[in-house]
Amino acid sequence: MAKNSITAGELLRDSALRLREAGIDTARLDAELLLAEVLGCERISFYTHPECPVTEDEYQSFTKLLERRLAREPLAYITGTKEFMGEDFAVCPGILIPRPDTEVLVEKIIELFGPESERKDPAILDLCSGSGAIGLSAGIRLPGAKIVLSDVSETAVVTGRRNADSLSVNAEVRHGDLFETLLPDERFDLIVSNPPYIAEDEIKGLEPEVSVWEPRLALSGGADGYQFYRRIVSQAQSHLASDGVLMLEAGDGQAQTLRELLENAGYARIEEIRDLTGTVRGLAAFLV
Ligand code: GLN
Repeated sequence: MAKNSITAGELLRDSALRLREAGIDTARLDAELLLAEVLGCERISFYTHPECPVTEDEYQSFTKLLERRLAREPLAYITGTKEFMGEDFAVCPGILIPRPDTEVLVEKIIELFGPESERKDPAILDLCSGSGAIGLSAGIRLPGAKIVLSDVSETAVVTGRRNADSLSVNAEVRHGDLFETLLPDERFDLIVSNPPYIAEDEIKGLEPEVSVWEPRLALSGGADGYQFYRRIVSQAQSHLASDGVLMLEAGDGQAQTLRELLENAGYARIEEIRDLTGTVRGLAAFLV
């Protein structure tokens, strides 16, 4: 069949097959999302109108995107956006793509400081903020909060600023290594962080979307994966309010060791943050 007479349904079938052969589990979904991006339509239309013709230009544009995905570039880098807590966050190479696993941390923040809670209008520091997914999602839901994002990566600072503006969150975005952007006496009600926590040697064994494409700076937690946890835990208390909370995402299997780090640092109480499957995704450490 001539390229210019191919239908959306046929193109999807062929491209999903190619993606599947390249080892991509979400082949059909990814093909649909890329074609929807090129055609500027909703995925549902491929089911209601599979006979819809694809023009030569559209075919060419789609092929370029498909080639990128076949090279295992993450879909979010190709489309330039990733949904998190129902909001679209701009992402690009150099930025860790927000994971749905992280959403339970935001839910916990809302539980602690939202309309149902005693504590209002918190000052929140999102350390290693990347796209800003955690801090900005909290800011959207806590309009009185003071939100500060901080990241050592310049790309993260630019992207965090851009997302704060597009989501209309009044956030400050700072550039620097962990706590170095703070004034000595600056204190927060909550310090939240999803720091790099993968053990250096384990990165090469991850999916190519992560190991090849995502920034090592945002993934590697040093030899054992705990380098940033240790640095954050040892310094956070000098920047927490007297009843402050330190909340950390925990990588798979890291919750126990992380809990011990927090206990040894003298927090009064530590709560596990679990997802719907019961897996511990984070810890919240309370000073009182
Ligand atoms: N959750 C990410 C992954 O599993 C890692 C993020 C991080 O290191 N904080 O790939």
